Amino acid sequence: MSTVASPSFCPVATDSGWRVWGQEPAARSFQRAAISGPRHAYVLAGPDHIGKRLLAQEFALALNCPAVSETGVPCRVCSICQRIERGVHPDVSIFNLDRQARVESGTGKNTSLTIDTVRAIGHDLALRPSEAPWRVMIVDDMETMRETAQEALLKTLEEPPAAAVLLLLTSDIENLLETVLSRCVVVNLPVSPVRAIDEALVAAGVAPAEASELALLARGLPGWAFAAANDATLRAGRQEMRDNARAWLAGDGYTRMVRAIKLADGFGQNRDEVVDSLVSVMLEWRHLLYQSVGLADDLDIQPGPPALYPAAALVRAVDSVRACLADLDANVRPRLACETMVLQWPTAQ
Ligand SMILES: [Zn+2]
Repeated sequence: MSTVASPSFCPVATDSGWRVWGQEPAARSFQRAAISGPRHAYVLAGPDHIGKRLLAQEFALALNCPAVSETGVPCRVCSICQRIERGVHPDVSIFNLDRQARVESGTGKNTSLTIDTVRAIGHDLALRPSEAPWRVMIVDDMETMRETAQEALLKTLEEPPAAAVLLLLTSDIENLLETVLSRCVVVNLPVSPVRAIDEALVAAGVAPAEASELALLARGLPGWAFAAANDATLRAGRQEMRDNARAWLAGDGYTRMVRAIKLADGFGQNRDEVVDSLVSVMLEWRHLLYQSVGLADDLDIQPGPPALYPAAALVRAVDSVRACLADLDANVRPRLACETMVLQWPTAQ
């Protein structure tokens, strides 16, 4: 059966009339496509919490609502809209790792979308829509699909059924084969400015002071901000990470190195957490860079302290963190990668 679990906390509509924040250009182009007639396959690419699921669901609504406006805004009150939003409409379904786990019930590790799932997608897509005009299939977690499974998917992409629309959602477009991408309309979703996230939270009823704080911590991801508005732990974790990053930067050469080694030694066990810490540090250096050249960083709406470092040194600091992340990704020894990084950080003047 089809299941479109409701994406996390969905606020009021934006200017486009769709309930997806920070993605107006993409929303508008999907609205035009819903009215003029969609293509058969799309790739929606962008990091987790950027709005891929919401966009896909809004598109499914606009394609199938019998009372859709001429600008592509669904009515949200008809039976079709309501069932799509509740995830129980037979013509709109989602495939992802969760669903695969339920179907395969514990056989295998379930870390990638399999060929069996690709076959099920092809089979479902080939059925005629039961009552709505379009059969919409949302395939999430595409970043996990291996090459062989993607090759199996090509068959469906090459001979798409007439009334079917396939929406492939991925947090890593690099993982998709060129042959898959070339058969889809590719929509890259950018991170949102802090202000846009701030406004979205306020519109959804979050108190202004809290909204500003969450928007700053969200790293451009509206979905994260909305989830954190309802989850104090999520927010506290990110806050702590930012405080740690600030403390790391503020240290002298010796304490910076001690922290670098400690972080590096945790890499084997907590890879994701270490990467997260490094991203926090990169963002802090970037804030200082923007402030030093008098630009209002869209990730920092606070007034800056007096410039402690020359801009060129800050550019090198930002680059050093980026290089460290690349090194870790390329299996350079963690200590070496982290030590090399902090040695390039400027000391306060
Ligand atoms: Zn409707």
